[in-house]
Amino acid sequence: MARGWNLTAVLIALGICSAEAAAWHGRGHDLATRAALAALRNDMPAFFVDDTETIAHCSLDPDAFTRPIAPAELHDQEAPEQYFDMELLGGAPVPPNRYAFIEFCAAKGLKPNKVGLLPYAVVEWTQRLTVAFAEHRRWPDNMDIRIKCLVYAGLLAHYAEDLTQPLHLTIHWDGRAKDDGNSPRSGIHNKVDALLGKLQADPCSVAKGWTAQPLGELLPAVLAEIARGRALIDGVYELEAQLPGMEEPLDANGKVADFARGRLDAAGKFLASLYLTAWLDSQKITLPPWYRQGTPVGQLAQDANAPDGKVLYHGQSRQKINAP
Ligand SMILES: [Zn+2]
Repeated sequence: MARGWNLTAVLIALGICSAEAAAWHGRGHDLATRAALAALRNDMPAFFVDDTETIAHCSLDPDAFTRPIAPAELHDQEAPEQYFDMELLGGAPVPPNRYAFIEFCAAKGLKPNKVGLLPYAVVEWTQRLTVAFAEHRRWPDNMDIRIKCLVYAGLLAHYAEDLTQPLHLTIHWDGRAKDDGNSPRSGIHNKVDALLGKLQADPCSVAKGWTAQPLGELLPAVLAEIARGRALIDGVYELEAQLPGMEEPLDANGKVADFARGRLDAAGKFLASLYLTAWLDSQKITLPPWYRQGTPVGQLAQDANAPDGKVLYHGQSRQKINAP
């Protein structure tokens, strides 16, 4: 979430809405993140899939970088990281990186922050996590590096999950856009944002049967996920009259719940694939000999060669790895 001010956000800021109302949105991120990690237990390092608490905790943070919590400068930078109003590109190919996109916008007279930069946020945070994993491969026992992986993974989770919310991908983000392009702020956006958190679901059961697939090239994979989300925009508006209000529960048997479960699946699977891609791609990164030398962590350059420098997977212990 996080676009502009709306009545609900103001009420929450003033403490008028219940704390639960604010937590619903966060609970959706939490649930999708835990489901993604549950799907990866045999494919990723044990420290990573076991520390679901830190990753799930950090998956809420990008919304704290926006209003009403964050100061204005941070909000102005952060909010556009969480949406992509693709229609504004007029059918042109999505530029390959953030600055090519900014140049494209300048040439077309578009404001980058009006369009949004969500695809680049997902690609870049996946690549930051990839680099952190490369460090973990070299210094598997280093706690600072492990913590860094968990924090980056939490931040990536937020952007990846926002990308599976169809109303984060369109000019019709809060009601059908008016003729002047502005949003009518109908309130549908918040109702949809709240849906995942209203599902009564256990992350391990949700992830049962999922197999994460690595994605290959990131931007095409991100754009494919965007296309799947955008295909649901009309369907979301068809459900509008049935969407529960912010304080109302979700009927587990209706079409709205089916939609919510489908989006939870999409969010968790997409995130799991991004995590796996970052882990596998981290093998291809070579850290130069000078990296981390001359810092307290540089000491680890020697430690890395001893005792074994091996990453632990789930069910393995250092003792087993060292056994002949
Ligand atoms: Zn968000």
